[in-house]
Order: sequence, then C-alpha cells, then structure tokens
Amino acid sequence: MALLDRVKIAIARRKLTSLHMKGEGNALEEWIQGKIRKEFERSKEFRQAIGRDELGEITRRELREYQLHRFRQQMAYVMENSYYYQKKFKDLGLRPEDIRTYDDLEKVPLTDPADLAAEPLTFLCVSQSKVMRAFTTSGTTGTRKRLFYTQDDVLNIVDAISAALRSVGMSGEDTLQIMFPAVSAWDPGLMLEGACKVAGLRAKVCSSVDVDEQIGTMRAENTKVMIGLTSFLYRITVLARDKYDLRSFGMKAIICSAEPLSEAMRREMRSAWGCKILSQYGMTEMGLATAIECEAADGLHMDEADYLAEVIDPQTGKHLPDRTPGELVFTSLSMQGTPLLRYRTRDVSFLIGPPCNCDFITVGRMGKVQGRMDAQTKIGYGQKIYPVLFDEVLLPIPGVLGYRLVLEREGYRDKLTFHVELKGDPAGAKERMLEALMQLDEIKEPLENDLILEPIIELVEAGSVAFAPKSKVIEDRRANYDAPAAAKGS
Ligand SMILES: [Zn+2]
Repeated sequence: MALLDRVKIAIARRKLTSLHMKGEGNALEEWIQGKIRKEFERSKEFRQAIGRDELGEITRRELREYQLHRFRQQMAYVMENSYYYQKKFKDLGLRPEDIRTYDDLEKVPLTDPADLAAEPLTFLCVSQSKVMRAFTTSGTTGTRKRLFYTQDDVLNIVDAISAALRSVGMSGEDTLQIMFPAVSAWDPGLMLEGACKVAGLRAKVCSSVDVDEQIGTMRAENTKVMIGLTSFLYRITVLARDKYDLRSFGMKAIICSAEPLSEAMRREMRSAWGCKILSQYGMTEMGLATAIECEAADGLHMDEADYLAEVIDPQTGKHLPDRTPGELVFTSLSMQGTPLLRYRTRDVSFLIGPPCNCDFITVGRMGKVQGRMDAQTKIGYGQKIYPVLFDEVLLPIPGVLGYRLVLEREGYRDKLTFHVELKGDPAGAKERMLEALMQLDEIKEPLENDLILEPIIELVEAGSVAFAPKSKVIEDRRANYDAPAAAKGS
C-alpha cells in the first residue's frame, strides 16, 4: 500500500465510531447509541428537543427524538441546497419546525424514485467537486438512478458496514468472502472490499460461479464470514455440500444480500454450514447498509442513527401500525450528497418495535421484504405471485437449485411453466414439485376456479443454464398491455 493511502486510511479511521467501541452489548446497537451521544454533545437543538443537559440512558424515546431532530436538520439542509426540495417545500409552506412527532412526518410529501431517475442533479446538495463517488443503481425494475456521495457519506457507510460485520461476530483475524456473481446487474463487491480495508477487516472478492474456486478461496483466505447475492450463495451451497464437508470450515455467519432470503433457503444453508444465516437489506439510495438480521430471525435491525423508516399504505400515504405490511419509506438522516426525505422504496415490508429476542433494546426492525411492489405479478383472479413465494415449496425438494417461471395465456386461463434446475435423480421429482405447488393457495384457488391451467414442470439439468439473479425468475409473456405505438393511436 502506498504511503499516502496509509495516511489517508489512518485519518479516516479516527472518524469511525465502530473502531472506538467498548464491546459491551451488541456492536451495532452500541454504535448507534454512540452516534446519538455524539450528536447530543454537538447539537444544542438536540439537547433542547430532549429537554435535558445530561443524556443518561438511551431509551426508545431518546432514539426517536434523535431521529426527528436529524429529520428537521436534513429538511433545512435540503431546502437550502437541493433545487428539487426547495421548490417542493416552498410551494407547500412547510417548515422543519412543523415536524415534532412521528405522525407529523405524514405532512412531508413523499419522494418518488421516478423524480430521482429523471433529474438526479436537482437532488444534489453539494458542488460536484465535493462528490467522492457517484453510483448508478441497477435499474432491474425501473429506470436507473444516479446517487452522489461525499467523502463523509462514504466514511459513514464504511462505519456502518464495519459495525454490522462486528455485530455478526467478525474479528480482525477473519476474512469476509464477497460473493456477487459478475452477471448480477450491479456489483457492490468493490465498495464492500474498500470498506473492510478502511475498517481494518480482511476481505476477498470472489465472483466465480465455479464451486471449486469458491471453496479454494475460502481455504486459502481463512474465510469466516460470507456475504453475497442470496440465490448465488444458495446455489454454491447446494452444489458444494455433497463434495465438501462444509461444517469443517467453521463459518461464523453467512449474510444474504440484495435478494430476499426464504426460510426454505435459510434451513438448507444452515444445515449445510452449521452457522447463522442472516438476511441483509440495503439500497444504493440509502447507502447500501441499511439493515441486518440478528439471530432471533424476527426482522432486520435498522441503522436508525442514519435512517428513519416508515411503512405506509401506498394508496392513502398513511402510517401503518407495527407488523402491518405496506410500502417501506426511508429518510437518510446523515447523507450530504443526495439526501432523500421520505423516499418510496417500492419494497413491501413492515415495522417491528423493540425490544427484540436478541440483546437489542432500543433499535427497531423491519420485517423481511415480502416483494417488490412492481415485481409482483397477478394470476387467476388477482392472486399475487412473486419469486419468494415459490422458494418456500420448491427449494426444500432435494436437488432443486433454482427455477424460472414463464407465464403465458391460453384462452382466458393463465399457463404457468416452471423450468426447474435439478441436480441428481429426477425420478418422481415432477410429481413432488406439483404436489408442493398445490399447497399454495395462490395456485390451488385459481385452479379450482378454472382460471389457470395445471402448472407444468420442465426439468433442466443442473449447470446447463447460466445463473440468473432472483429478480429475473418470473417471465411474463402474457400480452396484458397494449403495445406503446397502439396506445398513442398511431
Ligand atoms: Zn434482534
């Protein structure tokens, strides 16, 4: 490493809260509380909002006050620096001091991803010279969006990643193996690797689809934690478990990222590796490391020092109570480059208040994402289907690596063809899959009402098709919409 790089990293490390923790309680919660204490020392407004000169013990109430205080600060900041928000809030006559409670947030208009995609520069709050990194999102379910991070934004993300990795048990001697296949639409591997380097953790990127190469890297690098695309980690597990004794690796945790983790996948992976299998949630718009699951496996703990989450009814925009699914909405509380207020994620999830069965007492959780609002497809008389739904019934069948579903229409009936990638003996497999699919109301009900045909299973030999990320497993070939030319009347 060049001397200048070493100096830069040394300076950066001094700013990281995650490297100055006492190691009491959970690393992530301690880190979040550390950030709240820093703000209390720094900000007179925050002390006034709490109404005390001493912070003392941090409870849920102080955490919420901190979030609302940061929300007001960000609101003032974007009103001064972002053309988009300036215009939006001026028209409404809304002021930061109008936001005192969680319910007050409903007064603030939502930010639509389409606006960000259309005019990213109207969101930018700093001069271009202060932008350290610009990211373009994958755009698998919509238009690409461009996000700008300043140096402090990047350091903050590094800090969050470091705190999250320490909270799952990673230490200085372990290596994190970063496993995002090159075919996935976007590669967060390099950002993660850089974050580990700054935070003093070892990391190795391995994007190979070759199982032996992945296992070889684990041996050579002393990999103790893995992070990667969920369906990719699952595939490597199923292909490797007959050939290698995976439990002998002494893996500490496997973090499944960028795609939902079904319980069926979790069970299979846990029994193969003998370690905790955790789901992680993050989006480029919110700095990538937004939430991570704990061992209690009842929701993902959010980085509530940097993000404020809400769940709303997408039709009315009203807040929904805990454990009621709706659209997840996030506000970035510390971002400087492209700070977003009440940003619609299009992800379906729900909130869970503290405490948790793990050792977290103040930090809230979000439920596992149940699907993308725009990735859901309807069959029959409106049964919603989405990729994870079929995971639960198809993946427990021995040898099933993955599947692709093609939707077509025959007359008024929907026709579902599952192309299932199977490793091993195909005898009786089709019958078992069909039986499993029939356990789903989403299949059984429209079938009984003659609105869909009996699902068709086609077996595909393992390894004969290229790996595809989860977002692409349902292909809808039904002509549900007019062609754009016809719609214009030309
Ligand atoms: Zn927990």
